[in-house]
Amino acid sequence: MKAKLKVFYSENQQVDTNSSFSPSAGKPKKVLEDWKKHNLPIKVIEPSPLSRSDLALAHDPKYIKGLLDLEISNGFGNRNADVARSLPWTTGSFASAAQYAIRNNTQAVSLTSGFHHSCYDSGGGFCTLNGLVIAAQLLKLHGYAKKVGICDLDSHWGDGTAHIIKKLDLDYIEHYSVGGDNRSGAKVLKALPGIFKKQFKNCDIVLIQLGADACSDDPLGHKWTLEQMRLRDRIVFQQCKKYNLPLVWNLAGGYQDNFENVLSLHRISAEEYFNVFHGIKLDTDCEKNYEKPKRRIPDCKINRDDDIFDAVIEKPKRRIPDCKINRDDDIFDAVINDDRIEYEEEEKKEDSWESDIDWDSWDKDKGWRVG
Ligand SMILES: [Zn+2]
Repeated sequence: MKAKLKVFYSENQQVDTNSSFSPSAGKPKKVLEDWKKHNLPIKVIEPSPLSRSDLALAHDPKYIKGLLDLEISNGFGNRNADVARSLPWTTGSFASAAQYAIRNNTQAVSLTSGFHHSCYDSGGGFCTLNGLVIAAQLLKLHGYAKKVGICDLDSHWGDGTAHIIKKLDLDYIEHYSVGGDNRSGAKVLKALPGIFKKQFKNCDIVLIQLGADACSDDPLGHKWTLEQMRLRDRIVFQQCKKYNLPLVWNLAGGYQDNFENVLSLHRISAEEYFNVFHGIKLDTDCEKNYEKPKRRIPDCKINRDDDIFDAVIEKPKRRIPDCKINRDDDIFDAVINDDRIEYEEEEKKEDSWESDIDWDSWDKDKGWRVG
């Protein structure tokens, strides 16, 4: 088997000391070990770390300094020095993978998470720096790309990405976030080819988040069944292949108690990469080993059909109070319209994203302590 998936990973990305509900900081090494254990044909490439001035292409330099000097909290809500040390490497991993993909007109994966909730001058929702926008900016600055697509298929709305695009007026970036698309999972899958045709067809590269939390079994997700998750990855890769688009994807969210399930979901993405781009059908027992959780969140009083993440922390009714858009129509236009983004900025001034969220209040046995 000749084809190898290029995996951008450095031990410097890995943080084993972060105490958080989110396993993201400690995920890269576990995913790499899982892929090796299942004999996926991969080639690990060591990324380069980014400098403070690289990071400042998408963030306030004061925010960068505060984070790296441990003067302000990271997106996990703590000041873990290991997390701070990993930041130039996680963003560097994604940016290196993106540069590799575009220079070689190919595909790559970066074993990273925690980007899309990070705004220009603040973090939150387990996201500290926006590696997506930083990578786009570096590609643009160094002349590799004129137009960059960000296709965010993590369960949640990429508010940080939208905020930076708006703040810095980055009209060369095409951004789609399924977290802002209220259509059903099945409808979004059907719409994905149209989204690629409308937004990404003419991009020089697409940066893709294949968050495992979009699975309906995830305590913070609700979009797709396990079967549909595989379909999601297949469709996205097929569309990139159809339009000859270089791509880099990353891991993003995944919060199931059973971490093996999260690993299976990320392995499905890799299997579909080999399937679509190389015609190689791998079967590493992703579905066979997957254990369907019995109950998502014990004792949680929120309707299971609601998006618990949005319901608890995003307060969508407050954020788009006057949204008159028909949910069955093209919600995508609604997601990116300026009114919504401006409203978010207004809200941010008086009541920051961070202060809305009490990540420490998560109790696995009791669920969210609401109210
Ligand atoms: Zn998420």
